[in-house]
Amino acid sequence: MDLKSLIRNIPDFPKPGILFRDITTLLQDPQGLRYTIDCLTEKCRPLSPDYILGMESRGFLFGMPLAYQLEVGFIPIRKPKKLPAAVYRAEYELEYGTDCLEMHQDAISSGHRVLIVDDLIATGGTAKATAELVQQAGATVAGFCFVVELTGLKGRKQLPDVPVISLLQYD
Ligand code: 5GP
Repeated sequence: MDLKSLIRNIPDFPKPGILFRDITTLLQDPQGLRYTIDCLTEKCRPLSPDYILGMESRGFLFGMPLAYQLEVGFIPIRKPKKLPAAVYRAEYELEYGTDCLEMHQDAISSGHRVLIVDDLIATGGTAKATAELVQQAGATVAGFCFVVELTGLKGRKQLPDVPVISLLQYD
């Protein structure tokens, strides 16, 4: 199935010069959605994670069905001040300034192997910050999984030396 044909390219979003890869059109297509989750499941199953971690908010859209298929639990990685219990916190660089991701401290601990899932990897900053949260908890990153990889930005070079899976690549 030609999944790229289901991803819409929006020029100059969210600002001039950015070509945004819009996955809402993929989610909306029944066959495309099913095929995407099936492919993610088959590629990620060999990593045998204990949990899926998904980043707010588009990481939830793919991480949750993947966790369901792999019959493991899902852990949300959220923007600051959304999670109610004690959190670990990791900062990452944006083009202007910094942002921050949080994870519940009691979600994972040493001995757990987790798979980090997001819709897209660009510079890799978001995924790297999530890996730092896993490290703070003393757990292990089993791998990373993305629907889309913007290969020209070399984001995977930022990540630890574990399997990095992506379904679709754009230069
Ligand atoms: P990074 O931290 O790797 O530079 O950026 C990845 C994060 O930004 C992901 O959480 C992803 O959802 C979002 N993102 C950046 N560019 C795009 C894009 O073109 N399309 C979509 N769907 N998400 C993007």
